[in-house]
Order: sequence, then structure tokens, then C-alpha cells
Amino acid sequence: MAKQDYYDVLKISKSATAIEIKKAYRKKALKYHPDKNPNDKAAEEKFKQAAEAYEVLSDPDKKARYDQFGHQAFDGSGGFGGGGMNMDDIFSQFGDIFGGAFGGGGGFSGFGGQRQRVVKGSNLRIRVKLTLEEIANGVEKKIKVKRKKQAKGTTYKTCTTCNGAGQVTRVTNTILGRMQTSAPCHTCGGAGQIIDKKPADADAQGLIIAEETVSIKIPAGVVDGMQLKVSGKGNEAPGNGIPGDLLVAIQEINHPTLKREGDNLHYDLYVSLPDAILGTSKEIDTVTGKVRIKIETGVQSGKILRLRGKGIPSINGYGKGDLLVHINVWTPKTLNKQQREFFENNLDDEHFEPKPESTDRSFFEKVKDMFS
Ligand SMILES: [Zn+2]
Repeated sequence: MAKQDYYDVLKISKSATAIEIKKAYRKKALKYHPDKNPNDKAAEEKFKQAAEAYEVLSDPDKKARYDQFGHQAFDGSGGFGGGGMNMDDIFSQFGDIFGGAFGGGGGFSGFGGQRQRVVKGSNLRIRVKLTLEEIANGVEKKIKVKRKKQAKGTTYKTCTTCNGAGQVTRVTNTILGRMQTSAPCHTCGGAGQIIDKKPADADAQGLIIAEETVSIKIPAGVVDGMQLKVSGKGNEAPGNGIPGDLLVAIQEINHPTLKREGDNLHYDLYVSLPDAILGTSKEIDTVTGKVRIKIETGVQSGKILRLRGKGIPSINGYGKGDLLVHINVWTPKTLNKQQREFFENNLDDEHFEPKPESTDRSFFEKVKDMFS
């Protein structure tokens, strides 16, 4: 199938300015946006076509090559001769088009390895302390964050040096022919816009620091040291730049009785000698509350009871870990006279003779089993 002309895709003339190209793309992108056209393959295709056309026509270098050679300019040279852009590329590169309050400007252009991105605000980093219960069940945290925001009353205007393109293009004549080079615009730093008016308390970029409560959804199964990203909740950028991200480092608060090991939890349960001999039931901590478990008559110290699915959910969604209850039979360190006599009288009693059965695995086998 013959590829449609990029100018036709965006319904613009060959003499369209950078701003007109961006406006035309914005119109198409909003019209065929997947949120507005769910499950519509034809709309998705048009959405991709428009992004591809914009990718080329918004870049002075690529536009010049396209104007001269047409689609052939990009065949087999890492351009779009093959599969075109995928949706992720489109949103990561042109995402701000959909939410941007500004019609013109933009610094999307660039070429090859030195793609110049739209100006992005800096990232913010915070640390969030979570209990094991919060980690096990997932939690939504409301955190106060101090972030730079565009001050009310700040207005921006199109940079007159680059006419909003964010970069300046120079054409030089060389023995090899006309060479076109582009560099970020020094006046606006590549944003395509400069400050028009700003309130007195705003900084040179028209930003002020404001406290904001950010809601952070933390999925179950996060690990200490893990970093989550809340897109767009970092510092804002001036003009039509996009905000940076809020990077949230997870810190796990040690649980008083449960020890975490990956998705499994360990609990040390101490059982008195009479309880171990007679059997009993005990209440233990889990991440979803207390649970009563049965201790069999004659339980051995070192036995591990595995409570399946009572551990931490896998962050990748592959099931849940287990809770391993380690039985420790507590040997009394002192006895009264009567108790001492009882044990002394039973020193040779065969009931107190250790008789490990073949089903009683050794400590090392149990450890091995624990990790399987
Ligand atoms: Zn400029």
C-alpha cells in the first residue's frame, strides 16, 4: 500500500510553519486519541500516522529530507520505512500535546542520536516508610510534597529567536552541498517560549514552590529500596514544558515479630515444654491479623509449619509467599524441687529417649525445604 503524504495526513500545506504543523497534529491526535476511540483499529492507525507525520515534519532536518526525497528519505535508514511508531513512543515523545495549554511552540525537534526533548521539570525524590502490613496489602499514601509550580499570573510568549521551534537551524554551503545543522535555541533554552509576565514572588522561570498533597498508590509486594515513579508530580517546567516525576523510595519498617525474606515471612514461635508434650493451640501474628494455629502433641523443636499464601504477594502478580512458623521448644532454665525430682526420676524412662523417625528430617533438610 502506498504511503500517504505526510502533509496530506496532517491536512496542511507545504509552507506550513512549525506552529501550524504542531496545531494540525494536535487536532488530529485529539480526534483519533485512543481514549476517545476505544477498540477502534482504524482510529489507532490514523493516530499513529499523524504521529509519524508530525515526528518528521516537526523536525527541520527530517522535514528537509522528506521535502526533497519523500518517503524514500527514511527507507532502510532507521526511519519509518518499516513498522512505524508504536503507541508508547508516541506518548513518551508527544504526550504533552494532549494536555498542553499552549497551542504553539515546543521543542520536539532533533535528529538521530541527539534528539532534543521538550523541556522537562526536574524530578523530586521522597522516601515513604511502610509497615509490613501495608506492603502485604498495598496502600494509598497521601504525602505532602513541596514542588515547583507555574505561578498564577505568569504568562509566556513565543520565543522570537527560534519562533517557537526550540532550536535554530543554520544552512551552510560546503563542497558537499548545502548542510543544515540545528542547535538548541539559547534564548529560550529549547522550550520555544520565554517569560512574558510573572508575579514578584516567582523565580526567573515564573515558578514558585508550593506544598501539595500527592496521593501515591503503592502496590502490594514492594521491596525495601525499590523506587516507584509518579509521573508528572515532580517540579513543573516553565511554559509548555512538562513536569518532572516524583520518585518514591520505599523503606520497610521492621516488623516486631515477622521477618521477611523475599515473599516469604518467618515467625519464631516459642512453645513451653508441657505445651510441646501435650499439644496446644497458639495465636500468631500475620500480615492480615492474628491467626490461631494448632500445635500437635509431641511437636519437635525446629519443626517448621508452613501457612500457604500467608506471606507477601509477589510484586509481579505471581501468587503469594508463605508464612513459615518455626517451632522452638523452650527448655526451662530453673526448676523447683518437685519438678527437678520428677525429671531425675525419669532419666532412664524410655519415653524421654530421643527416637527420631525417618520422617523427621534433619535441620539441613528443613532449611533446604524452606527455600523450595
Ligand atoms: Zn527560542
